[in-house]
Amino acid sequence: MNERILISGASIAGLTLAHWLARHGFKPTVVERAPMLRGGGNGVDVRDNAVEVVERMGIMPRIRELAADVQGMKFVDAADRAVARIDIQDPASVEVMRGDLVALLHEATDVEILFGDSIVGLEQDDDGVTVTFDHAPVRRFELVVGADGMHSNVRRLAFGPEEQFIQFKDHYFAFANTDASLGEDRWVTMFNTPGKMTGIYRSGAHSQAKAYFMFRSAPLEYDRRNVAAHKQLISDVFGDDTSWQTKKLLHAALADPDFYFDALGQVQMDSWSNGRIALVGDAAWCASPASGAGAELALVGAYRLAGELAAASGDHRIAFARYDIAHRPLVDKKQQIGPNVRLMVPKTEGGRCVRDVVARSPLMKALSALERRMQARNARPLPEYVR
Ligand SMILES: Cc1cc2nc3c(=O)[nH]c(=O)nc-3n(C[C@H](O)[C@H](O)[C@H](O)COP(=O)(O)OP(=O)(O)OC[C@H]3O[C@@H](n4cnc5c(N)ncnc54)[C@H](O)[C@@H]3O)c2cc1C
Repeated sequence: MNERILISGASIAGLTLAHWLARHGFKPTVVERAPMLRGGGNGVDVRDNAVEVVERMGIMPRIRELAADVQGMKFVDAADRAVARIDIQDPASVEVMRGDLVALLHEATDVEILFGDSIVGLEQDDDGVTVTFDHAPVRRFELVVGADGMHSNVRRLAFGPEEQFIQFKDHYFAFANTDASLGEDRWVTMFNTPGKMTGIYRSGAHSQAKAYFMFRSAPLEYDRRNVAAHKQLISDVFGDDTSWQTKKLLHAALADPDFYFDALGQVQMDSWSNGRIALVGDAAWCASPASGAGAELALVGAYRLAGELAAASGDHRIAFARYDIAHRPLVDKKQQIGPNVRLMVPKTEGGRCVRDVVARSPLMKALSALERRMQARNARPLPEYVR
């Protein structure tokens, strides 16, 4: 029942889903709009249940070898003096560059991948879904899963325009490659002016560094696919800023062809499926980069979706309902990003002072250690799904 499954998107969620579906005996095909795997991005955390997923896939030793080895976040003043440091090292978590994780998931997943193509039409009936592609001939699948990110194409085709589902979280952000000498090795360095943050991500295991920009704003009108327009926006907001290293970071970012810009947004949906079509990863529940949980949610959600399909012998009605029930509590928890955003981008100068005092406080260290201990105590292993 329901053997042939099309997945849109060859990133963390799509490749993990394809791997586990194939292991459970289904026949997944992946379609990816980009002509090859999309690398890039900063470090992403593989933590808690997500560690079990990659351990069971056999790629945890490689992930540990490639770990970004970042010790924590530090907040600096205009003279580049650290005013507060937060150690984020956690034995239950490994931070790895997004591109390295995607490459490892791809190596572990032996399925058909159609690169450089995209779904343009989905028509479902009682037995399956007729899929029209931009390039490939029309094909029939029994199920279709959108793993194609926050601006999901499958979600638009099967559920409706994205404006219904994406909640804007009052900020925009950008990432770009920059000169590694600007940041301290193994630290994420952040500098704030009211409502703005510039930063440098400096992994201990990679030679390059990433520049961060984030700013608070009302919704802006711009072309989401036009990188030149994105660069102009960042330039408008940070161009006059002469404090700290902002000018150098901006200069590098504007010259970078891999410059990445988006609104800080979250996807909120009452249901992640519509008949034979389901969603996983950022397409279903994007919690935003401010959650620090995009990879964790994608790995665990994809593992559960494949597992529930196996446990229900391919019956999508049962499986999609159980997947929703099992995974939604973690999504709801990780979508609580308010404290992270206030930490990274205080609205006012007073807010920044309070943040620095709190970040320096031993009480904060004790509370976060306590939270980690509680999480470890409450952790439940993921089910070993069988078909
Ligand atoms: C290039 C890139 C850089 C990123 N950098 C960061 C970062 O630095 N920090 C961070 O927290 N998060 C980053 N993210 C997001 C992060 O990967 C996700 O939050 C999270 O890991 C969940 O992954 P996902 O597989 O659900 O979605 P994504 O990783 O967003 O992957 C979606 C995939 O779908 C593909 N796709 C999109 N549209 C179509 C279509 N029409 N047809 C077929 N395929 C399509 C995309 O090319 C992409 O491969 C980045 C994502 C990308 C794509």
